[in-house]
Amino acid sequence: MTGRWAPSPTGHFHLGNLRTALLAWLFARSSSNTLIWRFEDLDSAVRPEFYRSQIRDCERIGLDWDGEPIRQSDRFEMYTNAIEQLTRRGLTYRCWCTRREIREATTAPHSHLPEGAYSGICRNLSRRQLAEREASGRNPALRLRTDGETITIRDRQLGDFEGVVDDFVLCRGDGIPSYNLGVVVDDAELGVTEVVRGDDLLPSTPRQVYLFGLLGLTAPNYAHVPLVVTASGERLAKRHGAVTLEDRLALGESELDVLNMLLSSLYMNPVTSFAQLRDRAKNFDPTSLPVTPWVFDG
Ligand code: GLU
Repeated sequence: MTGRWAPSPTGHFHLGNLRTALLAWLFARSSSNTLIWRFEDLDSAVRPEFYRSQIRDCERIGLDWDGEPIRQSDRFEMYTNAIEQLTRRGLTYRCWCTRREIREATTAPHSHLPEGAYSGICRNLSRRQLAEREASGRNPALRLRTDGETITIRDRQLGDFEGVVDDFVLCRGDGIPSYNLGVVVDDAELGVTEVVRGDDLLPSTPRQVYLFGLLGLTAPNYAHVPLVVTASGERLAKRHGAVTLEDRLALGESELDVLNMLLSSLYMNPVTSFAQLRDRAKNFDPTSLPVTPWVFDG
């Protein structure tokens, strides 16, 4: 069995990121699963210093993983091969829609699509419409041609979750494979069987499960965990004060204090050493985790 932790190196981790990393680690280490670190670094917002700081901060709170971290940017060919395969099967089409056009189409009266879903404007263009769009000079994204199927996933923490699979993007207009495509290709190729991640990604999961099926691959098991929010209910971000490990150390806390704060937010008892964390992992019980967000108030 294999788990993974798949951060995007687009910023320093805050306590919410570290907490999700700790959870991915606890799930893996409680069942002797291998844990892979995969950097999702296809995005242009990636910066070299964040690869180092994300790894360093996880190490400092006692986490480890197996093998060298993997980078999506080294695996580009695998994603383009999958996209080509789907294109050969007639399952893709080009889309020139702007974000605004997509938003307006899904918020139109009578739209039955979930927010942000694609309504299929570019799916069946006439020759004339196609020629117009081709002449626009904009680079099209590539979308998956789906049947609008409803997929139910069984989440280990949150139970059943149902979602309509829209014609989601496989490759962006700038030629970068999409998040959903990269995740599916990688999780399959790396033999990932257990995905533990923030519940903000739950709505994308039916799309991913659908794509696993199309590519003849087996989807992993999922455990989505609640995020960290502020007292006013906002998702935790850097602007909310002392929220990185560095910030907490500057306040005079130790790495162990920070780990214990995270453990306490998971209703787990504190540890007196990082070695004790390993023992604690053996008795980790996911059924006793909180199912609501952790409210962080400084
Ligand atoms: N790279 C994504 C993020 O940092 C997580 C992807 C995943 O776990 O599937 O939010």
